[in-house]
Amino acid sequence: MPDSQTPDFYDFDGLLTEDERHVRATAARFVDDRVLPIIAECFEHGRFPVELIPEMAELGLLGPSFEDYGCAGLNNVAYGLVMQELERGDGGIRSFASVQSGLCMFPIHTWGSDEQKRTWLPAMARGEAIGCFGLTEPDGGSDPSTMRTAARKEGGDWVIDGSKTWITNGTIADVAVVWAMTEEGICGFLIEKDTPGYTTRDIAHKFSLRASVTSELFFDNCKVPSRNRLPQAEGLRCPLSCLTQARYGIAWGVIGAAMACYREALAFARERVLFGAPLINKQIIQVRLADMVRRITMAQLLVLQLGRLKDGGTMDSTQVSLAKWNNVRMALDVAREARDMLGAGGISLECSPIRHAMNLESVITYEGTETIHQLIVGREITGISSF
Ligand SMILES: Cc1cc2nc3c(=O)[nH]c(=O)nc-3n(C[C@H](O)[C@H](O)[C@H](O)COP(=O)(O)OP(=O)(O)OC[C@H]3O[C@@H](n4cnc5c(N)ncnc54)[C@H](O)[C@@H]3O)c2cc1C
Repeated sequence: MPDSQTPDFYDFDGLLTEDERHVRATAARFVDDRVLPIIAECFEHGRFPVELIPEMAELGLLGPSFEDYGCAGLNNVAYGLVMQELERGDGGIRSFASVQSGLCMFPIHTWGSDEQKRTWLPAMARGEAIGCFGLTEPDGGSDPSTMRTAARKEGGDWVIDGSKTWITNGTIADVAVVWAMTEEGICGFLIEKDTPGYTTRDIAHKFSLRASVTSELFFDNCKVPSRNRLPQAEGLRCPLSCLTQARYGIAWGVIGAAMACYREALAFARERVLFGAPLINKQIIQVRLADMVRRITMAQLLVLQLGRLKDGGTMDSTQVSLAKWNNVRMALDVAREARDMLGAGGISLECSPIRHAMNLESVITYEGTETIHQLIVGREITGISSF
């Protein structure tokens, strides 16, 4: 079994089709050859490697689950495996792909006009147009129903005022999918870069997802033609269903981060000799490694079933919440544990666990914090919303 697919304690591979394994191998090769050699340096210098975008596009990794507009038409399990491999490289690379596919191409594909689809989807699949998704505002991301960004009609146009914050890909995006309050409720708009009244600025001083662009978006009397409104996107359920797509990808992606950390801890424990014997002989080290395998195995089986439900058209967003909560918590715990097992060297970017652990501090917050997902599951089982 190729190293990039371990641990595989329950013959997870045997549950995949040949096509799914092939897609995973393609993404794995890209990560091994192109991401891993540069990613620590990108993280250190706070740089998202834009030079990787054309190759990701060529491999069909952008918008991979759509069947038209030049996309690869993968099933949802194969899509999840792509996310797993990308995040094995780095959460920043996976975040880029998640936002492009799940948060931007998905709403355009689902609620866009024919013209919007023809304009953006092929270009986004080719990596020639980059998207971002603006929902979160400075006053609080967990409760988007209170958004202040507003759009009003003026003649045949819309005029948008307000701001969005913590937006992945913001300053590199050619198009922003922006959610704003109108007289009819929350609506989605496509804001093209260089639109007068629309400006962006990167958020500095991040200690997490450093190989990812995170930005603020500002709208000051920003005039948008009515053809740029997503015609079918009305109500909070629309941005929330985009989040369901992205959260699904996250639940898979973080397994890749955990796998990378586990493998590094295992390799270190084999080599490190302490108290006269390789560390791997120590019972407590074996328990810690076994516990990582236990957690990763459960997470793998959880998302595989989730993917099969999604492919069968019966997955619901509450199931995605449980998986995002479980798997991100699992990966963060594994990354912190691996960091500790590497001793002092574990705080260096020459090892991946500290980078993954820091990235996962964002992943546990974005796309619904852990608490929000717990409350969503609580609401489902009790019938009472405690938000
Ligand atoms: C690196 C990064 C990239 C991001 N990318 C994007 C993006 O591309 N697009 C986008 O729109 N957003 C993006 N986000 C924003 C992200 O989705 C929000 O940060 C997230 O939804 C949480 O919102 P908040 O930060 O305002 O925290 P708040 O909503 O202010 O929450 C603060 C704390 O309160 C807790 N809390 C909230 N409600 C309750 C409750 N009812 N009971 C108990 N506790 C509660 C939360 O769990 C949290 O611990 C990104 C964030 C990060 C860090």
